[in-house]
Amino acid sequence: MIIKKREKTLHLKKLEALERRMPSAHKNRSMVEETLARQMAGFKGELAINYPLSFLPQMTYYIFHHLRLFDGTRPFQLDTLLLTPYYLLILEVKIISGSITINHDFPQIIRSSEDKEEAFADPFIQIERQKLQMKQWFINNRRKTMPMEAIIVMANERTVVRHDNANSRSLEEKIIPCGGIPKCIRNMEASYKKAHYSEKELESLSNLLLRGHQELDSDILKQFQVNQLELISGVQCSACWRFSMVWKRRRWQCPYCHSRSLNDHFQALEDYSLLFSPIISNRDARKFLHLSSPDNTKRMLRKYSNRYTGKTSGRKYLLR
Ligand SMILES: [Zn+2]
Repeated sequence: MIIKKREKTLHLKKLEALERRMPSAHKNRSMVEETLARQMAGFKGELAINYPLSFLPQMTYYIFHHLRLFDGTRPFQLDTLLLTPYYLLILEVKIISGSITINHDFPQIIRSSEDKEEAFADPFIQIERQKLQMKQWFINNRRKTMPMEAIIVMANERTVVRHDNANSRSLEEKIIPCGGIPKCIRNMEASYKKAHYSEKELESLSNLLLRGHQELDSDILKQFQVNQLELISGVQCSACWRFSMVWKRRRWQCPYCHSRSLNDHFQALEDYSLLFSPIISNRDARKFLHLSSPDNTKRMLRKYSNRYTGKTSGRKYLLR
């Protein structure tokens, strides 16, 4: 049963909005494009494990994607967490193509491709840290402990994994291709037969995990050293992608491709909320959407969000 779906993170949505509204000549644009491409590849790679997970029995497994919890000192992110009455399993998804070599005596993995070698941080250290942080989270939240396992899943089935050490069998089993998930889970089911949680306790734990999720809400403009005034305002045409839409005769009209729409300002307001502020005044919305009439702007804001604070002229709309 999927408790928390795999969705684009707030940070990824912010990157998309930034890329959309950054002028092509901006000095930091390539940096934004590269980060976005990397994060998007990661997101798509993680989708690859949804299929093998669909083979699990529906009721016994509580599945959480992209859970970001706090251990009391620092946040920790779990790509996928499986919760059962018997044990808990963390899946750390890696998207590394080509051929990788793991030396278990040295905290690094090496990817070789053609004549190049590249080093990545040791994922075994990462999953051990995640387990410790998860245990700490259980202690902080006064929950009974239960067996905790963590494995590394290679999202790309064509990745070749080699182990340098001969006596590393137990570690070798902790890194698997995503198609190997059902088999790995069958093995765990065979090892953990004692229920530590009742159905009711598990449901309460599941709710607590959901409530404990803290989405990373960083200042993306600060991260990429972009000033608000450098970004493109206005409503983007969903046909030709120019920021050219003009509100005329009760609809958005593009003077270039003559496309028309009623709701193209939704995307603009979402961009505003991701890049600048989750609340907006009528005045700021007029400026950003290139509108002149406060009444039209009010209607559009009300259509997008019926949550607001303040009265009449001081009213601000909550965009997310
Ligand atoms: Zn157009």
